[in-house]
Order: sequence, then C-alpha cells, then structure tokens
Amino acid sequence: MPIDFTLTNYQRRLQRIAREFANEILAPLIRAADEDPDPQKAFQAIKAAYVESYKLGFATGFIPKAYGGGGISNTDLQIVVEEICAVDPGFATVLLVNGLALMPIVWFGSEAQKQKWLVPAASDPRGEYLAGWTVSERPGAPGGTANFDGPAPYPAGIGLTAKYDKANGEYVLNGRKFWPANAGGWDLQGADVNVCIVRTDPKAGGSRGLSAAIVPRGTAGVTYEEPISKLGHRLCQNNSMIFSNCRVPEENIFAIGNGDLVVNKAFTWSGPVAAIASVGVARSAYEYALSWAKTYTGGGEQPIISHQIVAYTLAEVAMKVEAGRAFAWKAAHYLDLHNADGHAIGPMAKVFCSEMLFAAVYQAMKVVGVNSLDRSLPLERYLREASVFPLYDAGNIGMQMRKICAVMADPDFDPRAIAASAPTPFGKRAPPAESQAFGKNLKRQI
Ligand SMILES: Cc1cc2nc3c(=O)[nH]c(=O)nc-3n(C[C@H](O)[C@H](O)[C@H](O)COP(=O)(O)OP(=O)(O)OC[C@H]3O[C@@H](n4cnc5c(N)ncnc54)[C@H](O)[C@@H]3O)c2cc1C
Repeated sequence: MPIDFTLTNYQRRLQRIAREFANEILAPLIRAADEDPDPQKAFQAIKAAYVESYKLGFATGFIPKAYGGGGISNTDLQIVVEEICAVDPGFATVLLVNGLALMPIVWFGSEAQKQKWLVPAASDPRGEYLAGWTVSERPGAPGGTANFDGPAPYPAGIGLTAKYDKANGEYVLNGRKFWPANAGGWDLQGADVNVCIVRTDPKAGGSRGLSAAIVPRGTAGVTYEEPISKLGHRLCQNNSMIFSNCRVPEENIFAIGNGDLVVNKAFTWSGPVAAIASVGVARSAYEYALSWAKTYTGGGEQPIISHQIVAYTLAEVAMKVEAGRAFAWKAAHYLDLHNADGHAIGPMAKVFCSEMLFAAVYQAMKVVGVNSLDRSLPLERYLREASVFPLYDAGNIGMQMRKICAVMADPDFDPRAIAASAPTPFGKRAPPAESQAFGKNLKRQI
C-alpha cells in the first residue's frame, strides 16, 4: 500500500506530544511575547518553552543519529511543525532555523566538522542550544539576498567577505548581515554557532565565489545590533550583525566556491517545512472561523453558517488546508527519497502553501466579519503571521521561484519526474540570478 495518508503509531504519538507541548507550554506565553514592543524581550520570553522543546527533540531532532540527533525524517517533521505552527509560527521558526544552519554541515561538512559542531548541538544539557543561519543582507550595494548567486563580482549579491590569511591559516570576515534568525542568541552575544554565507572570492560571481563559515559564539569581531521589530513572527529574533576583522580558523570553512549550493539546498530543505507551517496557521484560522460561523447568529434565528455564502467560503478554506497538507507531505516525502535534493518540489510546496495561507486567513476574516479586526481575537495575528510566509525563507518571487524555473529549464527535465518521485537534477548548471539568458529575454521584452 504505497500511498497511504494514515499516520503510523509513532507519528500519532509525535503528533500528540507536539500538540500537548504547543497547547500547554507554548500557548500561554504567546500574547505577552507578541505584544512586547521590544523584540529581544519577546524572544527571551519564549526561552523556557524552547528548553522544553529541545528536551522533546524538536530543536535538533533532524540531526542524524550518528551525531547524537533524533534522525527524524522530513515526513515526520511535518507532523510536529503543523502542531506547533497551529499555535505559533514564530516559535517554530526558531526551531526551523537550527536546521537551516546545521543541515548544511550534514550535507557539505567534513567528518571532523560534523563531529565538532553537530554532536554538541544535539547534546546540550541546558537545552538552550541555538544555531543561526546567516545569509541575508540588506538590499543595496553591497548586499541583497535574492541576487546572492548573480554572476557579477563584489559588491553585487552577498557582501560579507572572507579573506584568506594564509600566514595564520585563518579567514578574516568583514561586512554585515541583516535578518538572520537566532544569530544573536538569548543574550545578543551570539548563538552557539552561526553558519555564515561569505564571499571568499570577491572577483568571482555568486555561483563561484561563495562559501560557508562556522562562527562560534565568543568569536571576536562580531557585534549584534537591536533585533528587527517586525509585523509578524514576533517570537523569533531577526538580527542585524556587524563583522569587523572577525577571524575564524580555516578548518571552520566548508563548501569553498559552492556557497550557492549550500544556500539553495538549505532553502529547499526548509520548503516543505514552511509549507506545512503555513498549513498549521491556515488550519487555526479555519477552525476559528468555522466555530464562529456555527455559533454566531447576528441576531437572526440561525447561525451564519446557514447562509450559503458563508458556508461556501468556509468550504473553500477547508479545501485549501487539505490540499496544502497533501502537497507539503508529498514534498517532504520526496526530500526523504532524494537526500533533500528536491529543488523544484520543495520550493513549489512552499510557494503554493504560503500564498494559499494568506488567502485562507483573509477568507476566514470575511466569515467572522469586522470583529476579526479586534486584536483581542486571534485572526488579526494570523493575518500578520501569514504575511511573513511568502516573504521569508528565501522569498517566493525571488529565490524559491527561481529554483523551480531552473529545474524546469534543464533540457533533460522530465515533467513527470515529480509525480513519479524520480530525481530532478539541479546544480551549477542552473541559471544564476541574472543569467545572460534572463537578461536577454528582459531586453527583448523592453
Ligand atoms: C521571520 C523571518 C526569519 C528569517 N530568517 C532568516 C535566517 O535565519 N537567515 C537568513 O539569512 N535570512 C532570514 N530571513 C530573511 C529571508 O530569508 C528572506 O527571504 C531573504 O532575505 C530573501 O528576501 P528577498 O527575496 O526579499 O531578498 P532581497 O534581496 O531583499 O530582494 C528584494 C526584492 O527584490 C527581488 N529581487 C532581487 N534580486 C532578485 C533576483 N536576482 N531575482 C528575483 N528577484 C530578485 C526579490 O524577489 C524581492 O522582491 C528571515 C526573514 C524573516 C521575516
């Protein structure tokens, strides 16, 4: 029976544990943290819940068992993420970012690097361990994120440079990062480890000149400004970091010249996670609106669900939730089959579900009516949370869509491969951000 959406006993247990954690430990903290005007205080307010989630294996459970982790599959991770995001997606982002930071070491790191960095991540007796995934930069020059792999040399794309100091066997980092989650740590002195995408060759473009650097907490030359105060996902910390002659030993560098592949693969891995996270929020909005429609009469004799327009609207939301979940699960399963190399389906699920979410929450608001704007009720927060999804995790119209198009544009692409769960190759051959082909097409259009 190869196609079966029934959860196994293990998955049902995982779902129950995640649901209990989300409802009993996380939920009581959310309102105060969400409303705290100080983003760092909001982040610190969830620390106790984070420690509990670490003990349950949710913070680093994706690390392979060989390095002390839970070795949880992408498919099983879906179950946990939906339950947590049904309560708060900002909190779940803190957990997700640990994966964005550490999975590149699993895929691209040396055995020595895996032993050195993954084992402590999975075995912190305090349960406070945080890893930062440090890619994004302010738009402008130098910097910007969506064009990270553009073919132009510095200052286009990634602007954090890492110059090799051969005499000392070190790389010297200079520049800034903007947006990375977790990177500042609980005290704004740094996460336990920050995995940073750096430009090791300033003359080469983004598909040849980028690499990854592991910057542990306590490294001199990194400072953290106040975290960004944002519209949604207020429980997760987004940082502004300055690197000033920050020195890391050369053994902390990996994927030299292949930093673009690191970025692409990490944001492909997170695609199905962000997809099911969207489903979690959409589910909560749907359930709230359904309950409202079944109990609110507006002074009439029947609850408003008896009006066809209300019931139809709710049915549409329900369809979106179910379709989103099926797509997210399919994408996660594909990633399990192909060592996370699902560079079309991972982004597809993320884009589809995150755009679906925003529409679903707005439909739920229309069912509830004007009272959905009342901040004492949950829907206004769901709308704020929903607005983050298409923009974060590599941005839908930037990096994520580009990967789908790159896979499709490959002359050998088989359009039936995804349905058949067959490989969909992606690599250095994929057109970078501003490839000549795209540029020519644009010129032709103008
Ligand atoms: C809650 C949250 C958590 C986050 N966590 C992290 C994290 O842990 N680590 C991290 O590094 N970042 C993080 N980010 C940032 C996030 O990953 C963004 O998705 C990323 O910065 C890309 O944003 P962008 O597409 O707007 O890029 P930008 O470079 O800011 O682009 C701006 C606009 O220009 C367009 N654009 C520019 N160049 C191109 C191009 N070549 N092709 C197509 N479109 C282009 C983009 O599509 C976009 O519309 C987080 C953000 C949020 C809100």
